[in-house]
Amino acid sequence: MFKANGNYLKLPGDYLFSTVASKIQGYCEANPEAAGRIVRLGIGDVTQPLAPAIVEALHSAVDEMAAVETFHGYAPDLGYDFLRQAIAQHDYAVRGADIAPDEVFVSDGAKSDSANIQEIFSADARIAVCDPVYPVYVDSNVMAGRTGVFDATTGLWSNVVYMPCTRENDFAPALPSPDADISIIYLCFPNNPTGAVIDKERLQAWVDYANEHGAVIIYDAAYEAYITNPALPHSIYECEGARTCAIEIRSFSKNAGFTGTRLGYTVVPRDLKDADGVSMHDLWARRHGTKFNGTPYIVQRAGMAVYSEQGARQTGEQIAFYRENARIILEGLRAAGYEVSGGANAPYIWLKTPDGMTSWDFFDLLLAEVQVVGTPGSGFGPSGEGYFRLTAFGSRESALEAVSRIKGL
Ligand SMILES: *Cc1c(COP(=O)(O)O)cnc(C)c1O
Repeated sequence: MFKANGNYLKLPGDYLFSTVASKIQGYCEANPEAAGRIVRLGIGDVTQPLAPAIVEALHSAVDEMAAVETFHGYAPDLGYDFLRQAIAQHDYAVRGADIAPDEVFVSDGAKSDSANIQEIFSADARIAVCDPVYPVYVDSNVMAGRTGVFDATTGLWSNVVYMPCTRENDFAPALPSPDADISIIYLCFPNNPTGAVIDKERLQAWVDYANEHGAVIIYDAAYEAYITNPALPHSIYECEGARTCAIEIRSFSKNAGFTGTRLGYTVVPRDLKDADGVSMHDLWARRHGTKFNGTPYIVQRAGMAVYSEQGARQTGEQIAFYRENARIILEGLRAAGYEVSGGANAPYIWLKTPDGMTSWDFFDLLLAEVQVVGTPGSGFGPSGEGYFRLTAFGSRESALEAVSRIKGL
């Protein structure tokens, strides 16, 4: 009799968002008159439609697909040159980061890339993650058999190095000890869920650590478009030495509304070599060529529009809109006496629950008393206990309404 992959069986259920959904449903059934009042600030999805320049590019690419002379079949595995060049120019060269177009691997999004990238590392590579964390990094390593077992009491996996992100370190982790024996370090800045950022000096210290200890940093920069502070790096390749120790993952989801259109990319520099001199660039190209058949032409054309003058202006306005939501929530709650962070260069606001309440108790309180929904911080890891995540991706009305209701609690 066949057997399932035992690594998958180690995974606890994905309780966070299903528990949130079932609690909302339970509330609505018990209080049908209040159901229409619910304000949702738990969503990690954008709500603004695709910008006109992007829609126009999509339409004209679809027309190309309809004529034999301009039809496109399989896209190149690693992405069309036009997009790889635009990315190297607009996302890297202009920031002084030295990345060649053929070091850019176009994909269907950052979630799949951040889950798949672990495949090109040794099965016994030890990983380090922030706590709290975007769950994909850990779960993909569990599936690959790179972790021990999950301890439901502590909420931690064995054989994973956790780097607590707390108010004491401004939610940016301290460097691991020199003898931690870590191969892969996952970092995400601006951060989901905390909205924390890292300045160039501190990121440089991570790059130096990785180079010194033979580790690689997987840098998830999905939220770089939300950075306004000029002192903050948008890319890890703004740091010296990052070409020999870092892989960067980016997405068009949060800067241009591609959550349902699907486009992202991963940068693997040619200088990134393992202990035996193996090129990780070549391995990722091999992996892409075998397991991925390219991002659709029409989507890559839509992605090009993000770099056009009009597209950049229009998506910039959308980001500014979400950023203003974040400011309203952050400043409103701060004025009401809450301890809040993030929200300045990120679309997430990280709120300390009042009176030492647990994350879930605060969730229940907000739902029952003011019908505002957020995400319990403990769902992202044990260091998230006592915190609560609110997102800026809703409407202006919902941001204003949520703040005014929470103030009135
Ligand atoms: C939303 C998000 C992504 C983007 O994923 P896509 O698959 O490109 O939509 C990546 N990383 C983090 C941390 C995110 O929150």
